[in-house]
Amino acid sequence: MENIIRIAVQKSGRLSDDSLSLIKECGIKFYNGTGKLKSTSTNFPIEFLFLRDDDIPGYVADGVADLGIVGENELVEKDKDVNVLKKLGFSKCRLSLAIPKSESYTGIDYFEGKNIATSYPKILGDYLQSKKISAAIHEISGSVEIAPSIGLAEGICDIVSSGSTLMMNGLKEVEEIFKSEAVLIANKDLSEEKVSIVDKLLFRMNAVQTGKSNKYILLNAPNDSLDKIVSIIPGMRSPTILPLAQKGWSSVHAVISEDQFWENIEGLRAAGAEGILVVPIEKMVL
Ligand code: ATP
Ligand code: MG
Repeated sequence: MENIIRIAVQKSGRLSDDSLSLIKECGIKFYNGTGKLKSTSTNFPIEFLFLRDDDIPGYVADGVADLGIVGENELVEKDKDVNVLKKLGFSKCRLSLAIPKSESYTGIDYFEGKNIATSYPKILGDYLQSKKISAAIHEISGSVEIAPSIGLAEGICDIVSSGSTLMMNGLKEVEEIFKSEAVLIANKDLSEEKVSIVDKLLFRMNAVQTGKSNKYILLNAPNDSLDKIVSIIPGMRSPTILPLAQKGWSSVHAVISEDQFWENIEGLRAAGAEGILVVPIEKMVL
């Protein structure tokens, strides 16, 4: 079928909710009842495959799916030849080396000649090689944190987000070796028809992402401080200024990035701004 694209998303796990929300925010409607493995959108030429994340890079490389949403950790580990179209900014985590809390860590040489348990033998192997460390890598598919306490390995390499799982298992993080977030990947040989559908999807995703990182700001200010305020918040093109019913006062509206807002809030208040409202933007097309 040439006039529809197929996207592989994680069936259930730490990527699923954000992947599906992003697609919904793009205005794409579909039904994903529990246990469903396939679904087709009712208002966009896209079909969904719900899979384990481990299988997503391979399905996209083989062309079973045209697109996929997967963590960079899984993508690099599986080492498949696909195009990365976009970083998606969610499911952020890191892969780290950890050792028992009671051990004193001396630097990466600590691992020379040791045993390390991991679900990421390729990423870990490449890292150790780049550091010229030879260690025995033991691949296990889950509950890696338990390996040191059962005598399987002296250290582990696993996904960390807050570090609480490590702590519960008496481990401490000693080296971060890889940073990951969710990415949108594509098969390398998409037909022209499919590329044009993918471009439409990317256009919508960009609008959603840009909207999220920006805010609509409204504030009131005395007219004599408007120049100062406008210099602080330049806005998309230039801010909108509307007179208030109260003489000598105006309302200023502008779009600014969220970071910029926090950096400039004191400056705005000092310049005389009052009643500052910050409103989320759903979509933004520049
Ligand atoms: P599956 O059953 O699909 O194989 P899984 O158990 O391998 O799922 P999850 O735990 O759902 O995987 O994690 C999926 C991806 O989410 C990971 O590969 C990683 O990119 C990211 N991830 C993992 N842990 C976290 C976390 N604590 N916070 C944010 N993102 C995470
Ligand atoms: Mg998995």
